[in-house]
Amino acid sequence: MILIDGKKISDAARAEIKERTEKLKKETGKTPGLATILVGDDPASQTYIKSKIKACEDAGIRSMHYSLPASSSQEEIIALIKKLNDTPDADGILLQLPLPGNQDAQDCINAISPLKDVDGLHPFNAGMLNLSKSWNEIIKKNLLVSCTPLGVIYLLQKSQIPMEGKTAVVIGRSNLVGKPLSMLLLANNATVIMAHSKTKNLKEICKTADIAVAAIGKPGFITKDYVKDGATVIDVGINRADGKLCGDADFESFKDTDVAITPVPGGVGPMTITMLLENTLKAFENRRSEITK
Ligand code: NAP
Repeated sequence: MILIDGKKISDAARAEIKERTEKLKKETGKTPGLATILVGDDPASQTYIKSKIKACEDAGIRSMHYSLPASSSQEEIIALIKKLNDTPDADGILLQLPLPGNQDAQDCINAISPLKDVDGLHPFNAGMLNLSKSWNEIIKKNLLVSCTPLGVIYLLQKSQIPMEGKTAVVIGRSNLVGKPLSMLLLANNATVIMAHSKTKNLKEICKTADIAVAAIGKPGFITKDYVKDGATVIDVGINRADGKLCGDADFESFKDTDVAITPVPGGVGPMTITMLLENTLKAFENRRSEITK
């Protein structure tokens, strides 16, 4: 087994982001800022938000946090988002998902200014990703792309795992992970197969993959029987089983193989927050060029 150390790659990326933040502050006299919104008090969401706030502080990015009660109406959430759209110090706005009640998450996201949509979930940004013809275009246009998929591409690039001409199977078709990741792999010239709960012969399809990405939400689902020798497994899943954090891949089953794999924890997870910082800097840069246009 070859371990893809997401924590190590993420630490190096955060050090670079910190340097860039310092440089941007010197150049502009302004501090890039991220506004986070948490509705309700779900313990897992609270933990994610705390990690995001700490990561901002460590990188020198200003963080502004807003807590709303679980009983908040969609209109109240949207009113806060609109206020933050007009707040100059908030370069990025992150609405922690899932929402606790029957508020419509996509309606709330649609209220975020596309320029501040650091999760890349606004239809404008999701559409721009779909329209992109290449990775170079995505980078050149400083597009705001969903953080977890962006982190996966970063991990593959930093681990020197080629994508061009390779077969990539993405298991899971959510708007948050599976769909944008498939578009990013396509932009990197992989041949992409999108699989989901209705896919027939999943094992056989996965066996054709040079890169298999599991974004399912089922602990230990992908075993070594799904993966061919020498392939790469990117485990996006974050699950709890027997009180422990684990991924969608059965990590132990890959021990005696020559498969390259990301662990959980310490694989894709740290990269997601790192890409949130990256997107906050992109949003700052994009808005700066908007303002000075
Ligand atoms: P989601 O919205 O629940 O989507 C799960 C996807 O898996 C769906 O497309 C579903 O197919 C598919 N699926 C379910 N059972 C399947 C099966 N037996 N065979 C094939 N496909 C199956 O989840 P998500 O938001 O994409 O998240 C997926 C996992 O990643 C979760 O564990 C989540 O916690 C984790 N995650 C991690 C990070 C991170 O930073 N590492 C970030 C986001 C999410 P259908 O569409 O047909 O239902």
